[in-house]
Amino acid sequence: MIHTRNIQKFYQRGEYVKYALQNINIDIREGEYVVIGGPSASGKTTLLGLLGLVDAPSGGEIFFKGSEVGAVSDRERDRIRRQHMAFVFENIHLIDDLTVSENIGLPLLYMSYRRKEKKEIVNRLMDRFRLTHLKRQYPSRLGNLLQQKIALARACSCSPDLILADEPCGRLSSSESDELMELFRQLNEEGQTIVMATHSEEIMKYGQRAIHLFDGHVVSHSSFGR
Ligand code: ADP
Ligand code: MG
Repeated sequence: MIHTRNIQKFYQRGEYVKYALQNINIDIREGEYVVIGGPSASGKTTLLGLLGLVDAPSGGEIFFKGSEVGAVSDRERDRIRRQHMAFVFENIHLIDDLTVSENIGLPLLYMSYRRKEKKEIVNRLMDRFRLTHLKRQYPSRLGNLLQQKIALARACSCSPDLILADEPCGRLSSSESDELMELFRQLNEEGQTIVMATHSEEIMKYGQRAIHLFDGHVVSHSSFGR
């Protein structure tokens, strides 16, 4: 689904150049659950931004479904991202003025479904993630695990080809993390392609395989053979 050829990303401030990623060659196939592991500042978030078409690489090539997407215009990259990708973040990013069901339906706002279809999609997701009893509540009144489940339901609502998750358990206790990771695992079992960044060895094991970063380089690969 996605492959990269020698991509790099650097940030420039005057004379100072910071390489966040160098010579990254990775392949993400459809249906895979890949974890990007590594310590803080190793480049995980930067890599997710490139794979998720939020940012363009400073060099190299990135292909999505066979087409080069690194060198296209920002506008075209935004269009492809909106059509194919969904994100889950460490700091959750729900909209406090919208109810749980409105948050989940947000990505559908600009899609060409009928009203009734949108409602059905949202209801199905609330049912699946056991959120139905909360549908008229506001997320800021709920705990972090529930909020992150809402964010995951929202990510699923537009049936993305790829879900990208950046430290999704960063605000959760270990038992809450297990519960959230179980939902990701089930989604993947049903065919959802997932790329997740984490610094936690425990959480890495939920993926099928991990790509380990250190100082902006891929240093090793591991496979967890589920
Ligand atoms: P991680 O997610 O693994 O903690 P990041 O991808 O956030 O790592 O960052 C990788 C490196 O790139 C870090 O050294 C970070 O300081 C640097 N970096 C990230 N974003 C920027 C930016 N916008 N400007 C300058 N440096 C950045
Ligand atoms: Mg990060």
